[in-house]
Amino acid sequence: MGKLLVKVLGGAGEVGRAAVLVKSLESGTAVLLDYGVNFDEQDRPLFPQHVRPRDITCVALSHAHLDHCGSLPSLFVSYELALYATPLTIELSDLLIKDLLKLSGYYLPYEHREVSKMLECTVPVTYGEVVEVTRDLTLTFLNAGHVPGSSMILIEMDGWRILYTGDFNPMPTCLLNGADLSNIPKDIDLVIMEGTYVNGTHPPREVLERQLVEITLSVLEEGGCVLIPSFTVGRSQEVLSILVKYGIDTYPIIVDGLARIANEIIARYPHYLRDYKLYKRAMEVAIEVPSEYFRRNVGSEPCIIISPAGMLKGGAVIQYLKKLSKNRKNAIILPSFQAPGTPGFQILTRGKAIVDNKEIKIDAQIYWLDLSAHAGRRELEEFIRRFDTNTRIIMVHTTLLNALKFVTRLKQKYDIDNVLVPRNLGETLVLEKTA
Ligand SMILES: [Zn+2]
Ligand SMILES: [Zn+2]
Repeated sequence: MGKLLVKVLGGAGEVGRAAVLVKSLESGTAVLLDYGVNFDEQDRPLFPQHVRPRDITCVALSHAHLDHCGSLPSLFVSYELALYATPLTIELSDLLIKDLLKLSGYYLPYEHREVSKMLECTVPVTYGEVVEVTRDLTLTFLNAGHVPGSSMILIEMDGWRILYTGDFNPMPTCLLNGADLSNIPKDIDLVIMEGTYVNGTHPPREVLERQLVEITLSVLEEGGCVLIPSFTVGRSQEVLSILVKYGIDTYPIIVDGLARIANEIIARYPHYLRDYKLYKRAMEVAIEVPSEYFRRNVGSEPCIIISPAGMLKGGAVIQYLKKLSKNRKNAIILPSFQAPGTPGFQILTRGKAIVDNKEIKIDAQIYWLDLSAHAGRRELEEFIRRFDTNTRIIMVHTTLLNALKFVTRLKQKYDIDNVLVPRNLGETLVLEKTA
């Protein structure tokens, strides 16, 4: 049995620019898992380490978030490479990458032409299907429960069995079934997993759903408006579904920005959703912004607005923020993680934010809810304990400090010491099969 090379091109001790190369040193067969972007403090894109497309057999994409797909088109500048993903991931990635081009095109090493070439090279896969890429390489995509179309990817290559989790959530949400852990074989040689929430525990989902509903209702009943800044893919649909499930649709629910388009794309793929009937009802209830006049006059009647960007870094949500932040009757509910430095984080910590180079003071009520789409510490621990002690585990997509604390905890609590946390971009490991 030959050796396996693992190169962490991005996402080493960092939440963002996910990219891992796994290569069989026996045959040279190599799979690139995700190729995303991150952003610096000035919001300029940061890319994973370079990899020559001709050295890769294929690319496998876990899901549509830009931290997993945002650098992919750069591989198609002068080369054609097969890109495997679910059809929904492909469509949503196209939407988000084109938006990135619009906002940050100046800094990107690709243009629309490369995005089109990438789309031509995609090979759509379905969950559970064993896809034969070459004689010594198969890929199997399994539901990751993170966002619609998201996948964990099982790779069988030259006798090696590797699992890449991408971003995953074993717990069911209103929108999605939990990650399909039951179809993961027990005898895996290498697991490459995310650790976004490696040091946090999520409150029970139902408690969070009820909190969202109670806060929203009390604000509306007092004559206020509720602004819910949400990510285009995943959180916008989840929040909308929760509100409809609990019957808040007697008040207008407005969906603005790219979330409207994402809603429509997802509606064409019912089998990825946990409860399509609920989603269909949510889509019927959601009001698309009728006019610019409406945007300008929002706030005169109680209503709910769901709009990207989730961390208030731009998008349609800014116009609403400026308008609604002045009135104490209104509320801003942040339903996701807010990265330090973002306007969303500033609002949470200081009650004011710099938007468009101007400071906005928030008089409206501010709430944060942990409606996460990632496994929490408890789920990550349980996940790791599924594998036997021979399985090598590499944790990416996490902050270094939190991951190292987690590794110490695993050792003390369960005597598990097979989890490795790469520290540097480009860190390379060569693995040999254990007996
Ligand atoms: Zn994600
Ligand atoms: Zn991610």
